[in-house]
Amino acid sequence: MAATQTIAFPSYPGITTTIQVAGKPIKVHAVSTGTVAVKRNFMTRRGPGIFSKVNIILDSHYTEYLPIWVWIIDHPDGVIMVDTGEIDAVNNADHLAGENPITRFINNSICRFGVDAKDNLDLKLSEIGIRAEAVKLIAFTHLHLDHTDGIRFFPKAEFIVNEYEYKHPYSNLPSTYPSWFRPNRVNYRKGQIEIFDSAHAITGDDRILYIPTPGHTRGHSSVVLRGDEYDLIFVGDTSYTQAQVLQDELAGANIDYTLTRQTYARLMQYASRRKSIYLPSHDPAAGDRLRDKLFLV
Ligand SMILES: [Zn+2]
Repeated sequence: MAATQTIAFPSYPGITTTIQVAGKPIKVHAVSTGTVAVKRNFMTRRGPGIFSKVNIILDSHYTEYLPIWVWIIDHPDGVIMVDTGEIDAVNNADHLAGENPITRFINNSICRFGVDAKDNLDLKLSEIGIRAEAVKLIAFTHLHLDHTDGIRFFPKAEFIVNEYEYKHPYSNLPSTYPSWFRPNRVNYRKGQIEIFDSAHAITGDDRILYIPTPGHTRGHSSVVLRGDEYDLIFVGDTSYTQAQVLQDELAGANIDYTLTRQTYARLMQYASRRKSIYLPSHDPAAGDRLRDKLFLV
């Protein structure tokens, strides 16, 4: 009989910082809703084109357990959140029962989750003094499971997702959405921001913008919080770590490597003009960079 193996998942403590926006302090929180390990060739591309996808399936090695960050902006007009993280129900054998067997097989083989009931977002929010009902708007970077599973805690919130991402998702798992989930599909407007040009303004003062960062999925977006002295860029899965964008390393997970390279170039250009803290959803060091104000460039 095989010995039962107990895995000690790393814990990524929450971070709270304050950023000045139009002369007023706004609190920003990072909370990790558990952890996820992925196939190494999913995190780092190995081989060209379709071979990079085959190499993910063939790979028997996993990365360390990475955080699943959710970003919370305590805006005076209402709390704004980026993505909704993972939930402990992902451990249930029937969590993906509504999906087809191939989708289930791929998801179950690529990702290993380390999520406990104490990691659930409703609890994490209450620990930092925010009621789930106080969350006004949630912006999705994209519709992968570990970014959407927490939707269920926010039946009263407005959700926004890029129109293309909603209509042409890549490996989303719609059977896991609550029946009431009806996100607002938004398009970017021209002339909203330098370098990226197009954006959807989340706040009327254009200080929080939803910008196109395709590559991981074709409709992938990021959220920029434009502070008085520096910006925060919540980049979802544009890259898994800051090192990837600095070293021009691509994730095997991405649907389009050319689009990813264009997005990397735009982010680097933007960060060379405006001091920016680069915050991917699964970067173990992202919380520390937010706390210590470490810029991309
Ligand atoms: Zn993703």
